[in-house]
Amino acid sequence: MTDTTNSKVVTRFAPSPTGFLHIGSVRTALFSYLYAKQNDGKFVLRIEDTDKARSTPEYEKDIMDGLEWLGLNHDEFFRQSERADIHKKYLQKIIDSGAAYISKEKVGKEGDREEVIRFKNPNKKVAFDDLIRGHVEFDTTELGDFVIAKSIDEPIFHFAVVVDDFEAGITHVIRGEDHISNTPRQILIQETIGAPRPIYAHLPLILAEDRSKLSKRKHGEAVSLKFYREQGYLKESLINFIGMLGWNPGNDEELLSLDDFVKKFTIEKVQKGGAIFNVEKLKWLNREYIKKLSANEILEIVYQKMPDYPRELLERALPSIIDHISVFGDIDLLVKNGEFDYLTTDFISKAGNFAKEKLMWKGESDKALTAGHLQFILKTIKNIPEFPTPEQTKAALWEYASEKGRGQVLWPLRFALSGKDKSPDPFVLISILGTTIASERIDAAIKKLFL
Ligand code: GLU
Repeated sequence: MTDTTNSKVVTRFAPSPTGFLHIGSVRTALFSYLYAKQNDGKFVLRIEDTDKARSTPEYEKDIMDGLEWLGLNHDEFFRQSERADIHKKYLQKIIDSGAAYISKEKVGKEGDREEVIRFKNPNKKVAFDDLIRGHVEFDTTELGDFVIAKSIDEPIFHFAVVVDDFEAGITHVIRGEDHISNTPRQILIQETIGAPRPIYAHLPLILAEDRSKLSKRKHGEAVSLKFYREQGYLKESLINFIGMLGWNPGNDEELLSLDDFVKKFTIEKVQKGGAIFNVEKLKWLNREYIKKLSANEILEIVYQKMPDYPRELLERALPSIIDHISVFGDIDLLVKNGEFDYLTTDFISKAGNFAKEKLMWKGESDKALTAGHLQFILKTIKNIPEFPTPEQTKAALWEYASEKGRGQVLWPLRFALSGKDKSPDPFVLISILGTTIASERIDAAIKKLFL
């Protein structure tokens, strides 16, 4: 094996732009990036777009945008399709040397005669020491003289990968386990073109919770970074989550930033077995990272999603809003379901337009009694600050509510303020709305009872 210990570490991420950036690919990119950074090396991005039928600029853009958004910046970039001349040069060289040959064969249903270029297999055992999987041995005899190009201008994937890795000086190939069976072929090609052998690290599969392989076919868009980004997941939680798919710091630390990963990541400690994608864990992480944002940052994001709501009410409602979401995207559904109607300015004419019976506690039919409770509250909250803490309002009303029955007193109050069967408790509602708005709503509820 070629000694690469003295050379500068160069890793690469080599996605094919044939689909939206997959979560598994993000992990490959992340681990390759981390390994380069922690060794003061270089991280190369190579778009493998030689499959012209399936590669699209849209997917390429999605991949590039996704990596940039996550902060996985590359030091060098190229597209495989732009290197056709170089591939051709190497191909010609090994045909000339006799290590590969042009073979005319029947292909396709019609049995058309076509040329392919086959690699003359030396039929030997190939062994390599994978940083994650340990010693791996393959007998390449069973591969036969495998195809390396459809024509001199159309190398297939294995050949292009080897040439490009060689020319870019890649020292460490970190990639998904699905490529492990490609490795012996690629090693044989390397030996033929005189390329040093990089060090390999094959990452374990990512599995869904039922332990099936996470795949687009079975799990749809939930396998792409885009899906999580569109739901409003923060990049910090995605990096944290993906960095722990198959690796952990070996202690109980759960919150790691990209910088923390650069410091702590150890490729040798990546697990061999499949890594389970636990979406609840991702949600938990996202909540943790939301909590780390400043109130102003959260307010900006929430306000963008709820531009029709009064900003100062949103500001006071932030803790309640955050309590109900895992990702900012959850807000859209909650708004649609009317969960935040209590924050609207036209509450009384819209969300407040409910049947008066709704104001009365279970089994209660005495409107005057309910109205009396509301009147007491109206009077009482005149004597507390305009924006009381929930505790202040509670202290002012608790004794009365305990004496008259909490449901009897607090249910009508909560309903008058929220117009919903479920909402934050009335003390929290008053702290958000302030006593002026609360009083208007209570007043409207009393009038409604007597209508
Ligand atoms: N282009 C290949 C893929 O997207 C990766 C090739 C490699 O990492 O060697 O799966």
